[in-house]
Amino acid sequence: MNFELSSDIQSMKDAVRSFIQNEIEPVALEIEENDAIPAALVQQSRSIGLFGISIPEQYGGLGLDTVGKCAVFEELAKTINGYTVMLATHNGIGTIGVVEFGNAEQKNRYLPKMASGEWIAAFALTEPQAGSNAANIRTTAVKKSDRYVLNGQKIYITNSPQAHVFTVMAVTDATLGPKGITSFLVEKDFPGFHVGTVERKMGLHGAQSAQLYFEDLEVPLENVLGAEGQGYTNALKILANGRIGLAARCLGSSEYLLDKSLAYAHQREQFGKPIVEQQVIAHYLAEMATEIEVLRSMTYRTAWMADIGMSVVKEAAMVKLYGSEVYNRVADKAVQIHGGLGYISDYPIERFYRDARVTRIYEGTSEIQKNLIAARLRKEYLSK
Ligand SMILES: Cc1cc2nc3c(=O)[nH]c(=O)nc-3n(C[C@H](O)[C@H](O)[C@H](O)COP(=O)(O)OP(=O)(O)OC[C@H]3O[C@@H](n4cnc5c(N)ncnc54)[C@H](O)[C@@H]3O)c2cc1C
Repeated sequence: MNFELSSDIQSMKDAVRSFIQNEIEPVALEIEENDAIPAALVQQSRSIGLFGISIPEQYGGLGLDTVGKCAVFEELAKTINGYTVMLATHNGIGTIGVVEFGNAEQKNRYLPKMASGEWIAAFALTEPQAGSNAANIRTTAVKKSDRYVLNGQKIYITNSPQAHVFTVMAVTDATLGPKGITSFLVEKDFPGFHVGTVERKMGLHGAQSAQLYFEDLEVPLENVLGAEGQGYTNALKILANGRIGLAARCLGSSEYLLDKSLAYAHQREQFGKPIVEQQVIAHYLAEMATEIEVLRSMTYRTAWMADIGMSVVKEAAMVKLYGSEVYNRVADKAVQIHGGLGYISDYPIERFYRDARVTRIYEGTSEIQKNLIAARLRKEYLSK
């Protein structure tokens, strides 16, 4: 397997790196404190194509494959994670559904505007009683002559206040369990669509997650994504693909923290020498670097498997599980190496520490990834 990135992807990574330095980092503290991404930064992100990372070129996107998308996400994760999550939600779970399951009409209507960033995308599955048990959603969709009528509530939906298009899962036939769930493309201007309170969160400031309310929400028949009854399988496939991108983001943030920690350990002196000369600190750095190296291999191998059409349900769960756990361990060591400075909010380490925590929860908790991996292992064993 060749792990070398193409020159196009490498140039894209370089462009993202200078965008971070010149445009994002100067406003990172502002984003953190205001819990909002400045409109000018969103506009600049549009102008360099960051909303079309994984949308095919024929619709105006960059058309990157999973390896390319991971490379860009890895770089984008080396700055304030709230900004990265806003973009990654759009480029991942927000748009994957239309790219993978949309018909020609839906692709023509939605993808060009999604690729330009004119229409930001979101993914709405979670409900108050349906988190890990996503098949337990209660939002209903009743078919009338020329439309579906949706009623229900979603929670924690990232990008809700800014998004124009939502991939929404709802129950069309309650007697069929998961096979009675359908996915819909819902626009914010459809009658009956409401965005509720934006949640205050431990981290990921800038990425806004909110409740959604559907009160006799009217969705045209042609906005069913895939066929009726395919919504739950669609959601699982979208999440599986999204998990590889999430692992790439955990990788990028972990690399950033290692770089910062390595530099600080050389520069900070205690007891008459740099702290890197204390074996315990050197070992922390060695452990961080080793786990990051494993994560890098796993991430790109899984991305490559997805690109050549192999099933990656188990591997995507593994890399999401491992990536989020590595990010959290690396962030913890980074705070420890920085001592008091690691706890001070004007310095970025404590922000990454808080931002890391949610990666073990959203897009499927660590426990659910383990259930998924174990179920696949059993299936593979029993089919031998
Ligand atoms: C910041 C943020 C952004 C989010 N963005 C989105 C979004 O854009 N779209 C969207 O649809 N959702 C989104 N979510 C929802 C997220 O995916 C869920 O929070 C997550 O899937 C967990 O569901 P829950 O919070 O209901 O926890 P629960 O399912 O109630 O789990 C609570 C605990 O019980 C454990 N548990 C539950 N069932 C089992 C089991 N069978 N075996 C072992 N352990 C189990 C869990 O692992 C966890 O530790 C977001 C959440 C957050 C916090």
